[in-house]
Amino acid sequence: MKDLFYPSHIELNEAAFKKNITFLRDYIGKDVVFSSVIKGNAYGHGIEYFVPMAEDCGVRHFSVFSSDEARKAQRASSHSSTHIMIMGMISNDVIAWAIEHEISFFIFELDRLKAAIKEARRLGKSARIHLHLETGMNRLGLAPEKFEDAVQMLKENHKYLEVDGLCTHYAGAESVGNYVRIKKQIENFDEYCSWFKEEGIEAKQIHSACSASALNYPDTIMDMVRIGIAQYGFWPNRETYMNFVKRHPRVDEEHQDPLKRIISWKSKVMSTKKVPAGEFVGYGNTYLTSRDQNIATVPIGYSHGFGRNLTNVGIVLINGERAPVAGLVNMNLLTVDITDIPNVQKGDEVVIIGKQGDQEMTVASFSEMRNFMNYEVLVQIPSTLPRYIV
Ligand SMILES: *Cc1c(COP(=O)(O)O)cnc(C)c1O
Repeated sequence: MKDLFYPSHIELNEAAFKKNITFLRDYIGKDVVFSSVIKGNAYGHGIEYFVPMAEDCGVRHFSVFSSDEARKAQRASSHSSTHIMIMGMISNDVIAWAIEHEISFFIFELDRLKAAIKEARRLGKSARIHLHLETGMNRLGLAPEKFEDAVQMLKENHKYLEVDGLCTHYAGAESVGNYVRIKKQIENFDEYCSWFKEEGIEAKQIHSACSASALNYPDTIMDMVRIGIAQYGFWPNRETYMNFVKRHPRVDEEHQDPLKRIISWKSKVMSTKKVPAGEFVGYGNTYLTSRDQNIATVPIGYSHGFGRNLTNVGIVLINGERAPVAGLVNMNLLTVDITDIPNVQKGDEVVIIGKQGDQEMTVASFSEMRNFMNYEVLVQIPSTLPRYIV
């Protein structure tokens, strides 16, 4: 049942998600753990909807940015074997909660390591940690000069720490412009992992790959991959797709993109009206009718992530046709020109992202109009809209 209180809704296509993870699992190999990255409200898909769907498709490992997302994922999960990993922010005050719930987290500072040991001792239960090593991104990551101190602390407190992982993150693996830097990071990571091993620190998993590095640098796949954008059906960028197709000609021959968009965003025509030639539509004077026109109002605006810069530029689908935005995008509304689309009625379906008839609005075309990357458009889709699995 649809919640009729909302002006628009999101649909998640489970079959498309299955295809994506089947493709990605085949690609990474069956012995590699697939961690589904669900930060940013599962890239706009909605953590509480996405997690159960992913679990139904066999996913048992999720990566989040922060502890609030971890808690949301944990509440949405219904499998005791599901594991949640925090890659970024968790306050020292919340570490006890993570330990109690066996949620693992990245360590990139000795301060956090100390806090983890302190809380684990207090609770009499070990903390599950991943040492996030600095290899050249220079953002987060434990600096090599801290490695010896870290090893000593690990050894002294081995009863209270489970080293789930040694990991790192690459500084832009989607772009060949960063090739030298990424290669250097891969080398550094290999060297540091060997060093930790020689020092007697055996991590359960060594992991480094995001979507782009897994696709562009197969060496980075290791024991586990942390895949975000690709599982949602998007290539990190066009360059990664081209590079992949070059190395896998079969994908090109089949003329079938192996990644399928799973999100659609739909609304309904709120009202229609006739506007005579030579009149302005909506606020101000950005849109002047050039003939007698029909205008439809759609209850989506910049408060929903449909940017104001799509004024007179954006496109939605109505009755399988492309309807251009006519006039300013308002906070909660937009007006579109339906003069050339026969018979549009109040209540007709409007597609902002997705397919209708032979037409499709991909997030990419939506974002190219806005000059954004997929990532940024996706996460701006409001978390408050209801999601339905279809
Ligand atoms: C976001 C993120 C990922 C996933 O990135 P995608 O490009 O979406 O696959 C992996 N690892 C870390 C540390 C991240 O922050």
